[in-house]
Amino acid sequence: MNTNNFGQSGRNPNHCIACTVQQCAHHCGSDNYCSLDRILVGTHEYNPTEDQCTDCKSFLKK
Ligand code: SF4
Repeated sequence: MNTNNFGQSGRNPNHCIACTVQQCAHHCGSDNYCSLDRILVGTHEYNPTEDQCTDCKSFLKK
């Protein structure tokens, strides 16, 4: 029985930060959440106009 808050990845999912980027080292695997306490979101555009213009700046390649 799993008696702690850790997901199958061994990371603690932060349910305030949902994320589907499974290629990130901070992702919780089968749980679509981030394991960080907080993240930084930014943009690579001069004038962002849609969601594709934004980026998670806390991304770390696995
Ligand atoms: S750091 Fe960003 S990309 Fe990586 S799991 Fe967390 S929210 Fe997703």
